[in-house]
Amino acid sequence: MSIKKRLVLSNIGMIIIPIIGFFLVEIILGYLIFVVFHGEPDGADLSRFLSFRLVAMIFVLTITNGLLTYYVSRSIIKPIQKLSFAAKKISEDDLDFRLQSKQKDELGELTRTFEIMRQKLKAAKEAQIKYEENRQELIASISHDLKTPLTSIKGYVKGIQDGVANTPVKLERYMDTIYKTANEMDGLIDELFLYSKLDLKQLPFYFEKVDLYFFFKDFIEELSFHLEKEQGTAILLANPDDSYIVEADREKLKRVVTNLIQNSLKYMDKQKEITISLHFKNADVLVEIKDNGIGISNVDIPFIFESFYRTDSSRNSSTGGSGLGLSIAKKIIAAHGGEIWADSELGKGTSIYFTLRKGDIHAKNIDH
Ligand code: ADP
Repeated sequence: MSIKKRLVLSNIGMIIIPIIGFFLVEIILGYLIFVVFHGEPDGADLSRFLSFRLVAMIFVLTITNGLLTYYVSRSIIKPIQKLSFAAKKISEDDLDFRLQSKQKDELGELTRTFEIMRQKLKAAKEAQIKYEENRQELIASISHDLKTPLTSIKGYVKGIQDGVANTPVKLERYMDTIYKTANEMDGLIDELFLYSKLDLKQLPFYFEKVDLYFFFKDFIEELSFHLEKEQGTAILLANPDDSYIVEADREKLKRVVTNLIQNSLKYMDKQKEITISLHFKNADVLVEIKDNGIGISNVDIPFIFESFYRTDSSRNSSTGGSGLGLSIAKKIIAAHGGEIWADSELGKGTSIYFTLRKGDIHAKNIDH
């Protein structure tokens, strides 16, 4: 019952109950004094009747007013006390409590809204803590990943200065290493720049209709040419009669696929076999990029899309890498409204899947 209704009813009660009470008192007292005890309707009996009636009426009035005021104020003051206690806790930065109310009035509603607000504040606080932790981890990883090649460059330059590279061959080797390491740093900084722009959502996306069949056909052609020297293979599995048109930013999509293929080539211990297949999944086109490389253990799979995450085997190997490739891919796919995930078996290979929303099916062949 709403507070307004309760107040109106209690006010009506404060008038009606005493009136009924007065009548009852009058009837009962009159019956007792004048009928049961045969009192005279004048003189001492009448004045006794009037005095008793006055006392009884004051009693009825006090009790009715007291009880109704107590009931109404209790139903208002108690939830207000609860809310004030909760507000005090929040002001002290304590969000670990729970507010509950079964009341069906405005205060019950306010209490439940307050509880939702508390839960949201708690979630925001936890997200802020997590974000701060991530930021600190990110700074530590960036510092580490930039410091390592820089230390190596400094070492080689010092070696040259101290005359350690005392033959033209040695000097060339030192210079090559310095150049290669500086290039790696350059690549890392580029990736970092891209990652932070994606993270801050400062990178514009230009969506267009892209036919994935032709997109990957071109890609596979280039890749096969590259793999020919190593007798590796790259194939595309898709039905040319189906329409694989999606809404995508062509350049960013290329970046995603390049990152995935680079990983497939990097984490490989045998003759390279890369298969790209196109499927449909509800309103999406599902892309699978499969390799026959070293695979990823089940322990690592949940983390590989996190920034700077590198598995132990890749950290210890000579393959360069920032640990940003997959997190960049994830951010780009998310900006397309898609999802990306991995499935892998150690020693057998890895499949990376991602989805992209289907574009206009009638527009086949318009943009490839
Ligand atoms: P990195 O720059 O280290 O390659 P990524 O974010 O691209 O960073 O990948 C994260 C980690 O996931 C890699 O360090 C590697 O251990 C693992 N990984 C990614 N793709 C593959 C793959 N195709 N085969 C095996 N391991 C992979």
